[in-house]
This record gives sequence, structure tokens and C-alpha cells, in this order.
Amino acid sequence: MPTDEITVNLLLKIMNNSLEVMKANEKYLTHLDAEIGDADHGINMVRGFSLVKNRLSSLTNPNIGTILNTVGMSLLESVGGAAGPLYGMFYIKGSEPTRGKTEINKKDLAALLEAGLKGIQTIGGGAVPGEKTMVDALDPAVKAVKESINNDGITFMMALEKATEAAKEGMKKTIPLIAKKGRASYLGERSIGHQDPGATSSYLLLQTMLDTLNGKIGLEVTKFGTDGSIIEEMYI
Ligand code: ADP
Ligand code: MG
Repeated sequence: MPTDEITVNLLLKIMNNSLEVMKANEKYLTHLDAEIGDADHGINMVRGFSLVKNRLSSLTNPNIGTILNTVGMSLLESVGGAAGPLYGMFYIKGSEPTRGKTEINKKDLAALLEAGLKGIQTIGGGAVPGEKTMVDALDPAVKAVKESINNDGITFMMALEKATEAAKEGMKKTIPLIAKKGRASYLGERSIGHQDPGATSSYLLLQTMLDTLNGKIGLEVTKFGTDGSIIEEMYI
């Protein structure tokens, strides 16, 4: 069902699918965080999106803005550590340009991603690209969608595909970086050689949006063995 816009119902579906993808990648995200952090990122994200699902199910007559704001408030409330306030700010600030709207078009998507990213950059010392954080995945995604706004040849789905691809590249590019923000920065040069967990969850959230709009969610997720090793890499 490729679409030109995200409706209220599709956004609710995207958020519920985000929980499924966080659950399916919980061990992976926690494994990445064990390398350069405190091994809780997957756990944090699952806890957060569980409350998101719960809170969204009790909204009456939601619009895009109220959904995104509820997502942000739920993450802020339930996720401990850095990621709670960071993702909380992303969705709360992202809700502002979509207040009262009942769908998200290409322009709205650019506005919400940009406002969300700016929100992230107002806390935690204001990360910029190159510091091995979620900003390294989100910043190129925002740029990709913004570039598509004035190009009628780029459809909504194409813009989202470009954003997702850019986020994935940004995520991979965190591997050789030295962490300059957050817990991983305490490691200094020892953070080199590891993929940033937050950049990975940011990419996964965009991929979930794209997959949901393509009608194929919950299926293509990374599979893990009981020892935590990766059996099949789907997203990474
Ligand atoms: P904590 O570090 O408190 O345990 P999480 O493990 O849930 O929190 O999240 C860690 C992720 O948060 C990192 O991988 C990084 O992407 C992101 N992060 C940490 N600090 C910042 C910051 N100041 N700006 C942007 N992202 C950050
Ligand atoms: Mg952590």
C-alpha cells in the first residue's frame, strides 16, 4: 500500500510495529550498548514502546500531533537513561509542526523530522554529526527528506526510502568514530570500532515506518540465537 501520506491509522500502526521491532532487536541493541555503554539500550526501548502502545490505545479521536506528543511523553516517562529524554524530545518537538493534522505528507515529514532532531540537539550537550550518537543516523535522514520537498519527481515513499537509506549509512559510519557524547564518550578511543546503539535504534524506527507503509512489518527482523549471536541479519 505505498502511499503519499501517513494517516492517523497508519501512524498508530507504525508505533505499534515499532514495539515489535524493538522487541525483535532488543538483544541486538543491548549487545551494542554492552560494547560501549551499560547494556540497557534494547531494554530501554522495549520498555518505552510498551508504554507507548498502552497510552496510544486509550487516546480518543487522536490526530498526528496528539499521537506524536503521547509517544514522546510516554518515552520520557518510562525510559531511563539518556535515550528517554532524547527520544522523548524527538517526538514531542516533532509533534509541534503536525498539531491538529490528520495526515503527514512529504513536507510535514520533513518538518517533523527536522523539529524532532533539533529537539534532541537541545539536550545532552547538543550532539552534532560525527559524535557517534543517534544524530549520526537522523541528521542525514532529515537532509534526504528536505532535499525531496521541492522535487515533484520524488514521491513520499521515495523520500522515506532515501531517508531510511541515509540513516542506515549514517549508522554504519558511527563504527570508526570516537564517541563525544553520552556514556560511550567516557571510553574515548576505546569506543572506536563499535556501532552506536542509539544510531541503530533510530535507523530501525525509520525502517519500521517504511516497512509498515509497504505492508510488511514484524517479519523482517534480525534473528538471534539463544547465546545472543546473530543468526540472520535483516536490518543491520
Ligand atoms: P544510557 O546511555 O543512559 O544508558 P541508552 O543506552 O538507552 O542510554 O542510550 C544510549 C544512546 O543514546 C547512545 O548510543 C547515543 O546514540 C545516544 N546518546 C547519548 N547521549 C546523547 C546526546 N547527548 N545526544 C544524542 N544522542 C545521545
Ligand atoms: Mg545504555
